[in-house]
Amino acid sequence: MSEFRFSVSQLLQEPIGATRQYELDDAQLAVDQTLTMKPVKGRVRFTRTPKGILADVKAQGNVEIECSRCLTRFEQPLAFKFSEQYYQTVVVNTGARLPAPEEDDPFLIDETHKLDLEDALREYALINMPPAPRCREDCKGLCQICGKNLNEDSCDCEPEQIDERFAVLNKLLGDVNRNN
Ligand SMILES: [Zn+2]
Ligand SMILES: [Zn+2]
Repeated sequence: MSEFRFSVSQLLQEPIGATRQYELDDAQLAVDQTLTMKPVKGRVRFTRTPKGILADVKAQGNVEIECSRCLTRFEQPLAFKFSEQYYQTVVVNTGARLPAPEEDDPFLIDETHKLDLEDALREYALINMPPAPRCREDCKGLCQICGKNLNEDSCDCEPEQIDERFAVLNKLLGDVNRNN
């Protein structure tokens, strides 16, 4: 069950502009099959709107992810905020169905007046994930020759070996150019 599900039946019976505030504390979010954000901390504010509830969310936490340079797994801090409209689908007192919102793929409050932030949190966590995460600003990465993690240890590979290969390549290119 989602740890981000809130009952909003009371708030839905209050006037437009009424608010509720909640804390997110030590929750856990499955961002996708391999990524988990935890502990998710933050603040949620719900505001009653004509069509439902506006959720203002601020969340932060850590995602264990692989460094794009040295491939070590590390805890990537992640923080984001968003505002999303959640549409009311059923009138609280009568149970009458409301017309479906016109928006594509809207966030809905379910028939039992529960508002679940999990899908939105997941979406915004993914959007805010760094494209090339680094375990630290100055990560030295892996040696191109022996594959050693250069953050942990240096290796004896000679950088000249790379230069030599380039020298051979340059010579070949030079020959090609001369023959043309
Ligand atoms: Zn790294
Ligand atoms: Zn090496």
